[in-house]
Amino acid sequence: AKAAGGNRYELADADSDARAIARHSLTNRLPAALDNGEFFIEYQPLVALGDGTVRGAEALVRWLHPVHGVLGPDQFIPLAEGTGLIVPLGRWVLEEAARQARLWRDAGTCREPMRVNVNLSPSQLRYPSLVADTVAVLEDAGLDPSALCLEVTENALIGADERELRPLRQLADMGVDIALDDFGTGYSNLSYLRRLPVSTLKLDRSFTRGMQSAPADPVDVKIVEGIVSLAHTLDLSVTVEGVETGIQAAHLRMLGCDTAQGWYYARPGPPDRLCALSLVDAAS
Ligand code: C2E
Ligand code: CA
Ligand code: CA
Ligand code: CA
Repeated sequence: AKAAGGNRYELADADSDARAIARHSLTNRLPAALDNGEFFIEYQPLVALGDGTVRGAEALVRWLHPVHGVLGPDQFIPLAEGTGLIVPLGRWVLEEAARQARLWRDAGTCREPMRVNVNLSPSQLRYPSLVADTVAVLEDAGLDPSALCLEVTENALIGADERELRPLRQLADMGVDIALDDFGTGYSNLSYLRRLPVSTLKLDRSFTRGMQSAPADPVDVKIVEGIVSLAHTLDLSVTVEGVETGIQAAHLRMLGCDTAQGWYYARPGPPDRLCALSLVDAAS
């Protein structure tokens, strides 16, 4: 922007000042927002590509800000991560999601035992009581560890050594499913993948965009094919995100992906919708 000079420079500058002020005021309000119960969770179904049944849902946090309305996680998670508030906020999300998963199970109206996926930020991963806290949350909710999947991004794990991976390994040994989120966007090499205590790869949306309409992008097809075959060799299941069209879903099913998530099935929404969706596929 500097090179452009003149008015454009001033405009860009004023703009970035305004953004910095907005970020600052959002950051300051985060603790009160948590106290006041301004956060809520939307759930997006995870669908088995083989038979089309709903198997669970990812918990996605939102902030109902009294002035700005609903804010998405991209607007405040990085701020919470920067101040450490992500730890209590993430714990709240986990508690809430575990309570919800227990309700789905108790309702007995869902066709399959529902699982819930919860995102873990890098600070939560490094937090000393991660394992103890997670165990406590599961016990309070009366939820079996196998009903929980924790999603960690590939980038959060890159370079982690055995000691740093120990908490995740402990959780995995207890039966918690660990998913590697945004897979393919980081730089982890394949031999490293073998050493991680993960059971699911969540393939980033960027790899499946080329399959939204026919004909599919042949390079994307090859890449997904390669990843699926690698994952299955390592005994990992593959979830694809950002499935927006039926054509895409058909391609991904043909390529052997196990589970899908995206607007084609449902946008993120309130928790009670999940069992209703599940009953719809039981009827069809
Ligand atoms: P993510 O974990 O990769 O979550 C998937 C994002 O893709 C969600 O955005 C979801 O709404 C969006 N999405 C789902 N289906 C489609 C589709 O078909 N097309 C397109 N274009 N997008 C789709 P959202 O809800 O805005 O969340 C953004 C990110 O915020 C998440 O990315 C995750 O990294 C983070 N996040 C959300 N909730 C939490 C949380 O409780 N804790 C932490 N640490 N991070 C969270
Ligand atoms: Ca995720
Ligand atoms: Ca993702
Ligand atoms: Ca993402």
